[in-house]
Amino acid sequence: MTIARVALDVPLPRLFDYSFDPTWNVEPGARVLVPFGPRRRVGVVVALARETDIPSDKIRAALGLLADTAPLSREWLALAEFCSQYYQRPLGEVIQSALPPRLKRAEPLRAAPSAWTLTAAGRDALAAATAARPSLKRTLLWHLAYADACPHEILMTLGTRAAAALRALHGEGLIASATALPTTHRFVDERTLSAAQTSALAAITASLDRFAAFVLFGVTGSGKTEVYLHAIDRTLAAGKQALVLVPEINLTPQLAAEFGARFPGVPIGVLHSNLAANERARTWIDAQSGNLRIILGTRMAVFAPLARLGLIVVDEEHDASFKQQDGVRYSARDLAVVRAQRLAIPVVLGSATPALETYANAQAGRYRLLSLPERVRAGAALPRVELVDMRKEIEMHGISARLAEAVRERIARQEQSLLFLNRRGYAPVLACGACGWVSDCSRCAAHLVVHYAPARAPRGARHGLLRCHHCGLEAPAPRHCPSCGNVDLVPFGRGTQRLEDAVQSLFPEARVLRIDSDTTRARGSWDRMRADIDAGAVDVLIGTQILAKGHDFPRLTLVGVLNADAALMAADYRAPERLFAQLQQVAGRAGRADLRGEVLVQTRYPEAALYQSLVRHDYEGFAARQLQERTEAGFPPAAAEAVVRAEARTPQAALALLRQALQLAPADHAEVTLFDPVPMSLSRLSGWERAHVLVQSPSRRALQAFLSVWIARLYDMRVAADARWHVDVDPLEF
Ligand code: ADP
Ligand code: ZN
Ligand code: ZN
Repeated sequence: MTIARVALDVPLPRLFDYSFDPTWNVEPGARVLVPFGPRRRVGVVVALARETDIPSDKIRAALGLLADTAPLSREWLALAEFCSQYYQRPLGEVIQSALPPRLKRAEPLRAAPSAWTLTAAGRDALAAATAARPSLKRTLLWHLAYADACPHEILMTLGTRAAAALRALHGEGLIASATALPTTHRFVDERTLSAAQTSALAAITASLDRFAAFVLFGVTGSGKTEVYLHAIDRTLAAGKQALVLVPEINLTPQLAAEFGARFPGVPIGVLHSNLAANERARTWIDAQSGNLRIILGTRMAVFAPLARLGLIVVDEEHDASFKQQDGVRYSARDLAVVRAQRLAIPVVLGSATPALETYANAQAGRYRLLSLPERVRAGAALPRVELVDMRKEIEMHGISARLAEAVRERIARQEQSLLFLNRRGYAPVLACGACGWVSDCSRCAAHLVVHYAPARAPRGARHGLLRCHHCGLEAPAPRHCPSCGNVDLVPFGRGTQRLEDAVQSLFPEARVLRIDSDTTRARGSWDRMRADIDAGAVDVLIGTQILAKGHDFPRLTLVGVLNADAALMAADYRAPERLFAQLQQVAGRAGRADLRGEVLVQTRYPEAALYQSLVRHDYEGFAARQLQERTEAGFPPAAAEAVVRAEARTPQAALALLRQALQLAPADHAEVTLFDPVPMSLSRLSGWERAHVLVQSPSRRALQAFLSVWIARLYDMRVAADARWHVDVDPLEF
């Protein structure tokens, strides 16, 4: 009898022992089917054992070994183990949340061909094809003509009917299932790297066989992506795989296409949460087998099983989306560094505004700073940033005369403008001037935001919707005040919908496009918008931060920033860092090609140090000041932090749960400071009252030692049925 310790998807900080038939040759990392209570579950074997505490008549026998995937590697299991210990979550939960959902089911994955190749008949058909409008089938053949073989998932991204088209091509004998993907690669390299790029690349390639963490620091357009591509080329040439993490799902198709063009025929896999279940599982398996040479993905891809991982790139490493905000609250960037260290490979953290943690690591010599100080393209100078003093300006609908004039010039020159307002909806709140009623969410400590219904009612007859941006609660906007009956309810403030109206009324002839998560929700909508922007069918873009990230708009020469002051005033100590990064990033949208960009920031505080740094494009000065302030205040990176959060039906119950938790804290914690329980800044969310206890220490190690004792005890704490708690290490939210 073999005993195996199995990780299951249950919120208990322990593994479960099962007996196995020795002839099955169960290995650590294998997926297995086991009985759990009255049900069956898929688990992952973490370790084999000779003994178990469970009496031999009680131990249950596993039901089967799931052989449609290879066992996860020791390296992968060790990463999960680290994640479990560092983020103080049960190993079973870590493993199960990393696994694609489809692999948590016992039914074997349908043996879809994992790759296709062109037959001789296919080559002939392609050569004979006329120049008529290319069909999807032709596109698929073209794609395959580039490569010796191409993974099924990649071809599936080429059109919504790709599956049917592939079946048809297969039926016609034009394509065949490929047994192995190509192992050699081609790299399209037509540019001469700048001196800064060359030396950055040299530093990275000099340590392809050992651990080094590089901070690739350069503004948008400074050529970071080009350095990644070259470093990946060297990695592939060494027979290894590369993993590239990006912050946004929206960025993956664009980047996959760009990478595909530079590495023709190289199997590239994409991993993010919007994939169909089978696609994600297949990509996972092909990554594990080594068939996929490059994996692009969002934070979850840090767990991609890669047999021959040789390089990790984290693009826009400062982005908050690399931190998971529920369940296992891991930082994909930090795990990427840990993974690289354990594998003895390089990791490249790229950003125009590195996270202060990252920058501090570079200054301390733990990471190596590689700077790309200039934009690479001749003539593509950094944009000119100007602060528009709103205390002196005449404004209409929140747009200053100065900004309006600049937009008008762009329209006349057929260039594009972007107005950046990081607040979607029509107005942040609806209010009654007579009695003081405001539209509050009944479930959250937040206002309901005024939205107009998607099918927009004619002017004057618009009533629209009230929507909570935290819990999603939605209700029709009342026509009169629910409290006093007054019919003059006023939407206060301005969101992107209202700005869109304002721009349209100021520039009736302009073609205006609003891009925020409301207008890009539908599948494919973002691609259509991009195509319109690229084709010059848009004059003024209005957008939230989703526009700030990584998109290249060659005709865009003006960026106007509205209402940034709100973030300047925020209480959160990370707010300035986030604001600077956001403004620097949105400013980077302006003037990438041969047209110099201009950025106008509307503010009532033009003297603020943050804005002054922005005008000078001086991240380093800004970061030095922030780090000094953080050090003086004892905030990260000068200290390590964790919070234990409680959620309950009343504020008292949440605070009481935390006081109960504090009773279990190890008494001896010289280097660790425990703060009193306090409500969170968003004190109620979806009907849960929220509070937290902050734990700080100048020593990460001391904090970890303290947490591992304390949190283990908390899992045994009795908690009322209508209350719950969780721990968040290196939290971003307070
Ligand atoms: P980043 O990732 O820093 O925003 P990119 O690598 O995307 O910068 O480069 C910006 C633009 O400059 C791209 O269009 C890229 O193709 C081009 N580019 C990058 N490096 C060079 C180079 N050495 N010579 C010419 N063009 C370059
Ligand atoms: Zn009222
Ligand atoms: Zn709400």
